[in-house]
Amino acid sequence: MTTVTQLIDKIKTYDPQADAELITSAYNFAMEAHQHQKRESGEPYFTHPVAVAMILTEMKLDVSSIITALLHDTIEDTRATLEQVKKKFGPEIVTLVDGVTKLTQIELQSLNRQQAENFRKLVLAMSNDIRVLLVKLADRLHNMRTLHHVGSEEKRKRIARETMDIYAPLAGRIGVHHLKDELDDLAFTQLNPEGRASIMSRLEFLRKEGENNVGNIIKSLKKLLKQNDIAVEISGREKTPYSIWLKMHRQNISFEQLADIIAFRVLVNTVEECYQTLGIVHSAYRVVPGRFKDYISTPKSNHYQSLHTAIIGPNQQRTEIQIRTHAMHEVNEYGVSAHWKYKQGASGQEGDEFRWLRGLLEILENAADPEEFLEHTKLEMYQDQVFCFTPQGDLISLPTGATPIDFAYSVHSEVGNHCVAAKINGRMVPLRTVLHNGDQVDISTSKAQAPSPTWERYAVTGKARACIRRYIRNQKREQFIELGRSMLQKNFKQDALEYSEKLIEQHLKDIGCASLEDLFALIGEGLKTSADIIRKIYPEHIHKRRLVPPLPSETTERKESEAEVSIKGLIPGMAIHYAGCCHPLPGDRIVGVVMTGRGVTIHTFDCDNLSKFADDPDRVLDIAWGDQQREEDGHVGRLHIILLNKVGSLANLTTMIGKNGGNIINLKIIHRTEEFFDLIVDIEVKDKQHLSTIIAAMRTASVVSSVERSRG
Ligand code: MN
Repeated sequence: MTTVTQLIDKIKTYDPQADAELITSAYNFAMEAHQHQKRESGEPYFTHPVAVAMILTEMKLDVSSIITALLHDTIEDTRATLEQVKKKFGPEIVTLVDGVTKLTQIELQSLNRQQAENFRKLVLAMSNDIRVLLVKLADRLHNMRTLHHVGSEEKRKRIARETMDIYAPLAGRIGVHHLKDELDDLAFTQLNPEGRASIMSRLEFLRKEGENNVGNIIKSLKKLLKQNDIAVEISGREKTPYSIWLKMHRQNISFEQLADIIAFRVLVNTVEECYQTLGIVHSAYRVVPGRFKDYISTPKSNHYQSLHTAIIGPNQQRTEIQIRTHAMHEVNEYGVSAHWKYKQGASGQEGDEFRWLRGLLEILENAADPEEFLEHTKLEMYQDQVFCFTPQGDLISLPTGATPIDFAYSVHSEVGNHCVAAKINGRMVPLRTVLHNGDQVDISTSKAQAPSPTWERYAVTGKARACIRRYIRNQKREQFIELGRSMLQKNFKQDALEYSEKLIEQHLKDIGCASLEDLFALIGEGLKTSADIIRKIYPEHIHKRRLVPPLPSETTERKESEAEVSIKGLIPGMAIHYAGCCHPLPGDRIVGVVMTGRGVTIHTFDCDNLSKFADDPDRVLDIAWGDQQREEDGHVGRLHIILLNKVGSLANLTTMIGKNGGNIINLKIIHRTEEFFDLIVDIEVKDKQHLSTIIAAMRTASVVSSVERSRG
């Protein structure tokens, strides 16, 4: 196992200022934390974090990343806590360790392969520091290198699958190609050992045949082109067994037909040089027929430009050569989506997103001071999205700030419309709770549940908001229809006229409505009055005007609606508001006023503001409080109090209200003289009786000069 001295020496080769003491302390901390644990291979567990740290030194990562690697499994697997790590190593490292720990916890979730892309985005979204992702990838790489020690074949295959679907593509995306290739190859070994073995033996044979092919070909190509005065940059490499297998698979061709087991890329300065180079290569080597493609004169739809050809190389081996300018190469590699479309065959528009990141990694490799550089490198990918799991392990992507309501609607609009409760990671939470990456969300539904207008405040997705709004609009219309119909019936009755919907239907055109329902809805909403309708149908009838609504007749009307509603005389569920002028309380005599488009506003019977509706008596409804008020429906009573301006009198007053079970929700001093405070206090109470008790208590107090309910 690598000793701490070896580790530090390695880091010092690229970062001479590295804090050896801190690294030693992390090394010892992790060793102690893992001391009794063993890996499946039987080795001490601690060899793993050290190996991960060593992988990162190869990438010349900063001291914080190395320490994070050493500590990366301590939180999940040992008794060590984030607080300890923070205390010992500071806020930066604890954030990184926490980030890697969270990624590890996500791994434990089941994975639906169709969701691989979402899962990759989740990992990126959670790696808000690029170092978190790099540590995670190195962790995975070491686990893959030692995967053969894992006893269960099923587990080995699952981990390999996950590596191939998630981590290798992520490594490729951020441009760490050697990591991607190794991850892919290790996974391939596990998933298709026979396939890999046959490709390997074939490669072995070819390698023996054409010794040091890559180097030879590069050398002779360079020499050839130099003779022709063309400055070139040539890169070539043997493809990995996995990428060969992939190509054979995708293009359904045999190994012999694969021209690009070895592929070369020739970069030149101008377009003319591309064609010149092609001519030179073609005249020097035998050309494989049918392999020439000119993507310069006719670029691919994703703007990819290059010349492709295949030749029989110096050792009789088929070799692919791609010729392009540096500028084309730049576009091909990093241009808008070009690279990813080409390589992944996906619809991705991700080229640009990753361009800067790859640029970053290039800088990183050459950076003089990786420490400082990395400190400012934040990954901000998919920060506008949050990814959550269903109990079945499906991933749902939502905008940041989304709540279980959004989650429910994105599963299905019916799930949304009937959701009653949510569990996040097994814990019951309010529906307004903001979701976090990796949360598992379990929605309970009930047939009886319906969306409430308050939900709209907690929803951020367009779908949820639209569904809630549509539902409420429909529901409101239904309420208005019922209300309008009952208002019309009542007014006909009051005027001693026969109520007949058939008769009204005959006048619909006259009234300007398409249907009876439309008419009722308009009346319910206060946009038309019963008087208008009566006038149309019984032109000779003189509509009696009443200034004050009649008292509810105790015997008849009250018994009609004995439902569990808090207010009688209204359609259950009808939108109601309590008037801010008179603050009606249960026990008060009340009337309702139909407000245009806003449902019904409830006033006390003697509210001063009712005179405003004297000319519009149809809008005033006879209503009464129901017999039972629900406990949770707090009502607000408003008091006008004149208080002696003495030390402690305000405290005295508030204590008195509290002692009597009142909850002050607003207190406003309107006027203050040397002798008196003039105040308005809003108190949440159960009903009129409750407020009367409080008023009575106040009146006994010496500091209270007068107290009265506010009347508008
Ligand atoms: Mn690990």
